[in-house]
Amino acid sequence: MRYLIRMSELDDRGTLLNCPKCGRRNRMRYEGLGQTFHCAQCKNDLPALNEPVDARSDLVFDALISRSKLPVLVDFWAPWCGPCKIVAPEFRKVAQETAGQFILAKVNTEEVPSLAARFRITAIPTMVLFENGMEVARQAGAMPAAQIRKFVGGSIRKRKQKDTRHSIFAI
Ligand SMILES: [Zn+2]
Repeated sequence: MRYLIRMSELDDRGTLLNCPKCGRRNRMRYEGLGQTFHCAQCKNDLPALNEPVDARSDLVFDALISRSKLPVLVDFWAPWCGPCKIVAPEFRKVAQETAGQFILAKVNTEEVPSLAARFRITAIPTMVLFENGMEVARQAGAMPAAQIRKFVGGSIRKRKQKDTRHSIFAI
């Protein structure tokens, strides 16, 4: 199951993942994140995104940040950066622990230098938290999972759990 979920990625409309039950590729629209999606084929519930996803272009990044109903924590990193390699498994841990509450995205600053320039990333790794399309916090330097959780938790007011969870079908 895990190897299927690991294949999550983003496009300009939502997060893509394979249904763990039937294998169908589903798109969970950014606007509906935080709610329960059902597989378009077998109708089973789809799991919340529980791993970091790569934002590989300005287009995809902007769509995610501006439309996601969940706060988005972005890890700006580069392949040559030693501390970034230390952060990667910690970031992954936080993604598992906060599935359904946050989206964790990674931006390779070598691959998409335009994003690093636009957000004035002067050191890596740098984590930037976005909510409703706005940057709400940033922190440079390597952090263990516990510190990352504290960073996002302290930056965002307690989000009220909705009493009624809407059901949405993936497309
Ligand atoms: Zn399915």
